[in-house]
Amino acid sequence: MDIRVGRIINRLEQLGSISDNSDCLSRFFGTNAHSKAKDLLVLWMQQAGLKVLCDNIGNVRGIYKSNVENAKHFVIGSHYDTVFNAGKFDGPLGIIMGIEIAQRLIKENKDLPFHLNIISFSDEEGSRFNTAYLGSSALAGEFKQDWLLRKDDSGKTLSDTIRNYSENFEAIFNDKIPKQDWLGYYEIHIEQGPVLCEKDLPICLVSSIASQTRINVNWQGVSGHAGTSPMNLRYDALCAASEFILEVEKTGTAYQDKLVATVGKMNVLSNTSNVIPELVCHSLDVRSADEGFLNQITDLLQKKAKQISEKRNIGLKWEIMQTNPAVLCDNQLKDLLRKSINKIGITNPIEIPSGAGHDAVMISKVAPISMLFVRCKDGISHNPEEYASPEDIEVSLKVSDQFLEELIKVN
Ligand SMILES: [Zn+2]
Repeated sequence: MDIRVGRIINRLEQLGSISDNSDCLSRFFGTNAHSKAKDLLVLWMQQAGLKVLCDNIGNVRGIYKSNVENAKHFVIGSHYDTVFNAGKFDGPLGIIMGIEIAQRLIKENKDLPFHLNIISFSDEEGSRFNTAYLGSSALAGEFKQDWLLRKDDSGKTLSDTIRNYSENFEAIFNDKIPKQDWLGYYEIHIEQGPVLCEKDLPICLVSSIASQTRINVNWQGVSGHAGTSPMNLRYDALCAASEFILEVEKTGTAYQDKLVATVGKMNVLSNTSNVIPELVCHSLDVRSADEGFLNQITDLLQKKAKQISEKRNIGLKWEIMQTNPAVLCDNQLKDLLRKSINKIGITNPIEIPSGAGHDAVMISKVAPISMLFVRCKDGISHNPEEYASPEDIEVSLKVSDQFLEELIKVN
């Protein structure tokens, strides 16, 4: 087996052991573990021979420069933040493999027609501020000023958190690679779904990434004593939220061929056993490959929420935090990737859409994107059981080396 595969697995383990929680892997944007992981990535990139830059949102950029005048940038990237109780592969696999891909070219002293950037994005999951793609949005020049006011669960703002990485967070807006300087983007990621396992395939092409909407829903009731408030005189925010969440499930199930809908996070005030819940805030995540349909169903869910709030006399606040349209992977890059897969001996690789969002979504606003999915065991992800085999990692490494060769040839 390629000696690099052992190093990739070893590094996945090392990065996977850096957590803010002693019982599980959790590495949200801007935490101690997040900074520690960043330092390790800087070290690995330096060891690979890359010139390393850390930007103002915490992205780590390793660059292998081209000698060609006015060369454009080709980026291989993924993210190093995680969800709570995460697996070791989601994100880090794409970064660590990117470092190996660059290191091979540096060792061979290869003259590149483009600047090769390996980028570790600081936030993709959005677990802390409910704003996905903070890292890639800065690189794409899509970072929004009003995000700086977003607060985490403890009330700390994003701008205060960014001070971990930057004295001057206004500089975030200068961290972008300007649109005209991009050549393209490539991301290697575990599939996070069951298709490759079912078809017994190590890898596949990605055709598109589903559209996604993230909404914060707040239910405002009235707190009261759990012992003295009669049932018919209550304004229980948690009961209203519960009724709505079951509607979300019902709606998602009714349209399951085209849509998924999830409530994954909830805060209850005062979260006390003998007090009627006064305020409930929860997330709502809706995704579909069909953007028009996604909007239609999101409107329908908002209507249902309004009906529940009126029926129960509970206040409702519906705040759209982020919407991302469906994006297509670039045909030319996909053809090169398919050719690379063929060259390592896999004929007719399949192509599937991604239900999960990826940094490629943000980058697609400024550059052609491409993605390679790697089989993960039983399709499990966002879970400590997440696993990709050394054999499959080796296949994806071979494909990626070949992809870079093809890219060098045509540019
Ligand atoms: Zn990911």
